Amino acid sequence: MGERVLIALGGNAMTGPDGNASPDDQRQAVERAMTHVAALISAGHQVILTHGNGPQVGNLLLKNQLAADVVPPVPLDWCGAQTQATIGVLILNALGHRTAVVVTRTLVDAGDPAFLDPVKPIGRYFTEAEARRFEELGQTWRAFPGKGHRRVVASPEPLEILDAPAALALMDAGFTVVVAGGGGVPVVRRADGSLGGVEAVVDKDTAAAVLARAVQATVLVVATDVPSAVAGYGTPDARPIGRVTVGELRAFQEAGHFASGSMGPKVEAALRFAERGGRAVITSLEHIGEALTGGVGTVVGR
Ligand code: ADP
Ligand code: MG
Repeated sequence: MGERVLIALGGNAMTGPDGNASPDDQRQAVERAMTHVAALISAGHQVILTHGNGPQVGNLLLKNQLAADVVPPVPLDWCGAQTQATIGVLILNALGHRTAVVVTRTLVDAGDPAFLDPVKPIGRYFTEAEARRFEELGQTWRAFPGKGHRRVVASPEPLEILDAPAALALMDAGFTVVVAGGGGVPVVRRADGSLGGVEAVVDKDTAAAVLARAVQATVLVVATDVPSAVAGYGTPDARPIGRVTVGELRAFQEAGHFASGSMGPKVEAALRFAERGGRAVITSLEHIGEALTGGVGTVVGR
């Protein structure tokens, strides 16, 4: 029987890590990624897609900054929405028949402590003088020794994927859906009950765990550029983690095996999903087909 599988695509599925990829390169990367997704759909699985947008948002921010004297810079939530649309169209063209992209908002708490201590670096490195100029405009920048200065923003916890009901309706109608790209456009509920965007980014892996529950996925596949999570990553004792229990993976996590800005959120997303009875797999994009039959990647849950 087919699974209802949520695939969270890493940035490497869309572009190179540095954001320098040309539109053609990005399109080709999406086309490659979609051949793997199409194979799953052909095999009878119901697929829900979500994706990262780090390099794309970085490029939009840079354009904002360079053109600030000519065109008013747009807020970060607008950049997120723009990347959902552009990446979404590439996916539509690559995947074709009966695919829909849902512009998606993710509810976050205005009181989330992340807003008091922004730690998520976004965009490119700048000189100290440039960083000071943006700080005067109210942004927070941090020095990264040996690399330069980079803007940091809040990465609050995703509470709810607000447009998941639209995705569910489309799924019921037989559509493969693309939902909560870039973790979703972060919005908060104001005192008067209205919703508004905020200067923040939501981690796409953390959002994927919330989305997986909302769309009742049976399997969460976190597709990245390594075949599995690794214990002792980058050390001589490195060893890939295969099938594990929630408890075992938590123990690796607590022992500090997963870097906070990269593998950390993937493991946390996998754990949160598995703790509620789902199966989660962390593996590389090329392996997502095998991820459903077993034998590859880091597998946690039933
Ligand atoms: P994505 O674009 O898919 O979100 P990330 O760069 O955020 O990719 O995360 C994947 C990266 O995490 C890998 O390329 C690897 O360099 C890094 N990483 C950090 N710690 C680990 C670990 N313990 N095991 C495997 N990869 C790790
Ligand atoms: Mg990542």
